[in-house]
Amino acid sequence: MKIEEVQSTAKKQRVAAHTHIKGLGLEANGNAVPLAAGFVGQVEAREAAGLVVDMIRQKKMAGRALLLAGPPGTGKTALALGICQELGSKVPFCPMVGSEVYSSEVKKTEILMENFRRAIGLRIKENKEVYEGEVTELSPEETESITGGYGKSISHVIIGLKTVKGTKQLKLDPTIYDALIKEKVAVGDVIYIEANSGAVKRVGRSDAFATEFDLEAEEYVPLPKGEVHKKKEIVQDVTLHDLDAANARPQGGQDILSLMGQMMKPRKTEITDKLRQEINKVVNRFIDEGAAELVPGVLFIDEVHMLDMECFSYLNRALESSLSPIVIFATNRGICNIRGTDMNSPHGIPLDLLDRLVIIRTQIYGPAEMIQILAIRAQVEEIVLDEESLAHLGEIARDTSLRHAVQLLYPASVVAKMNGRDSICKADVEEVKALYLDAKSSAKLLQEQQEKYIT
Ligand code: ATP
Repeated sequence: MKIEEVQSTAKKQRVAAHTHIKGLGLEANGNAVPLAAGFVGQVEAREAAGLVVDMIRQKKMAGRALLLAGPPGTGKTALALGICQELGSKVPFCPMVGSEVYSSEVKKTEILMENFRRAIGLRIKENKEVYEGEVTELSPEETESITGGYGKSISHVIIGLKTVKGTKQLKLDPTIYDALIKEKVAVGDVIYIEANSGAVKRVGRSDAFATEFDLEAEEYVPLPKGEVHKKKEIVQDVTLHDLDAANARPQGGQDILSLMGQMMKPRKTEITDKLRQEINKVVNRFIDEGAAELVPGVLFIDEVHMLDMECFSYLNRALESSLSPIVIFATNRGICNIRGTDMNSPHGIPLDLLDRLVIIRTQIYGPAEMIQILAIRAQVEEIVLDEESLAHLGEIARDTSLRHAVQLLYPASVVAKMNGRDSICKADVEEVKALYLDAKSSAKLLQEQQEKYIT
């Protein structure tokens, strides 16, 4: 399995608007501080969310899920993210919208499965040995004692490394040796050699191993057993989906032919069930060996009423699995139709799933709270605005939505800059307000001018 250099595939865009949320902002006794950890108001929901965090820590949420119910723009995503952060700093957060499951190419359950795996983290611990030493010349006798007469054998190169504990003779793969030569490493230079379970992996002039000096040796040459000069514990956090994606990518060497081959083939091979099972096997082995631990994260499914029966029955089963993240649903619907059926149910969720849910309500914000949230966002985005424009944005938030008002901050700052000012004034807000429609006005306009659009 490829774990080295696994790229994170976390959905950064979706959480960009919530970067100011650092937790739930609760005191040790569970009471919410009116403004803490980037959170404003929504006190009861935050306190209830704090209890859920305790339940998760005590493993009392197994097989269950959380539902956040409340009007749009009441901080449901923010609350889910806050819960995730309370669980730990490297806990994966995967947000999705119910309607995402409807794609013409991929099965609904496949999309749900992918997101489940995005929300399960794996912390891999590696003990890396790093040798630090000065390159020395080896005497012919020293070389001979290892290679039996060949200073530079076909498969190995021997170099001497003078460490604090004496001279060490290292067998290097020729590719590593060539890289040393390319970097003009000479006798007397200090170099670092990184090894993993006795195999040389990288060499460099510093133990940060500058990238241009990284090597991609296909097979690593074992280091002679001996004292380790430095030991570093390297922790890498990945999600199961990162591993799936990294191992599904077409593999091949760096030579022209295989590069051409990769161009002809579709970029991404599919992540199959078989691949996932293989990954699970390796992951389980890592866990058994103590080399990795699972970090269940948070899967946030907004607009849960968009899911249909097939999705709900998949979710029911997935929640039972030992490999399940914490699932948080959100909805702004009351009693409504369960998609694809003629049944009605609270929040459009079938009763058997509803039975498993802990429900938290979110409340609409007052004007002062909206202004406070806008001020926090402005600060995070390094946007300066005067009292009057902040109050005006607060009014816009009240009349349209908080999200819309937050989204006007950046364009307003651009307009201010164009007018030669560093700080936004009310006129800038007015100008961008006229430029961009919020969702409500856009819908109203569409309704009024229906005959002008193709339906
Ligand atoms: P919902 O999912 O309920 O529609 P949301 O969290 O996705 O809500 P909005 O409520 O539309 O997003 O919030 C807009 C912006 O205000 C976001 O940047 C969000 O992080 C922030 N926000 C919302 N509620 C709070 C709060 N109580 N404290 C601080 N920031 C908040």
